[in-house]
Amino acid sequence: MRKQIAAANWKMNLTYDQGEALLKEIIGAGIQLSSNQQALFAVPFPYLAMAKAAVKGQTNFDIAAQNCSNKKSGAYTGEVSVEMLQSMGIGYCVIGHSERREYFMESNKVLAEKVNICLENNITPIFCCGEALQVREESAQNAFVQQQLEESLFHLTPDQVQKVVIAYEPIWAIGTGKTASTEQAQEMHAHIRQVLAGKYGEAVAGNISILYGGSVKANNAAELFACPDVDGGLVGGASLLAQDFVQIIKALK
Ligand code: 13P
Repeated sequence: MRKQIAAANWKMNLTYDQGEALLKEIIGAGIQLSSNQQALFAVPFPYLAMAKAAVKGQTNFDIAAQNCSNKKSGAYTGEVSVEMLQSMGIGYCVIGHSERREYFMESNKVLAEKVNICLENNITPIFCCGEALQVREESAQNAFVQQQLEESLFHLTPDQVQKVVIAYEPIWAIGTGKTASTEQAQEMHAHIRQVLAGKYGEAVAGNISILYGGSVKANNAAELFACPDVDGGLVGGASLLAQDFVQIIKALK
């Protein structure tokens, strides 16, 4: 059974103390997750060790990085390698968030390299995809997302691709308060699963968690997560508020 995941993406927000207090409050809510549920916190690099310590002993609570280098090691000042993440016990990394694609020019090819290096080091990539508003207005979103998947994931073996978590984040819904409707989310998630099934077969596609991201809030998480192909969410703004994110975790199927 594929995992249902509530993933916080703090982006470049919160001081160290604020981050620590937020984690403490969320964990203090005493949420009990079942074996197919997972809560993740994608925190800034300098907070990884603190965050890892904060969730220690909490069943199915874990920490993710927000990015990694596509290079193994060496003279790449300012970069953080997957080996470094692995050496501190980090098991997840967000790859290809639309903000990185847009502001840091990350291409599908570079993202394929990042996915590879994560998998080689036993780190689960949370691979982000999703279209801009203009693409949706042209009704070209299905082909656009399919191309992102093909160019960054389709070189993987069936075994490897099952280790990837996919996050569908329509850019027009990120930080805008404009959530995709449950119909729009389900339609795209079913499309993504169909594309994966076309390449890898139904069984493999059925094992892959596909998260929705884009203005997930405490008051819309349950209806989004109830969609049959929506396996949880990747949450920005609302993950910075303890009570809201607690509600979102509790909305998991
Ligand atoms: P918001 O939840 O703030 O719209 O951000 C979504 C996102 O980009 C998560 O990665």
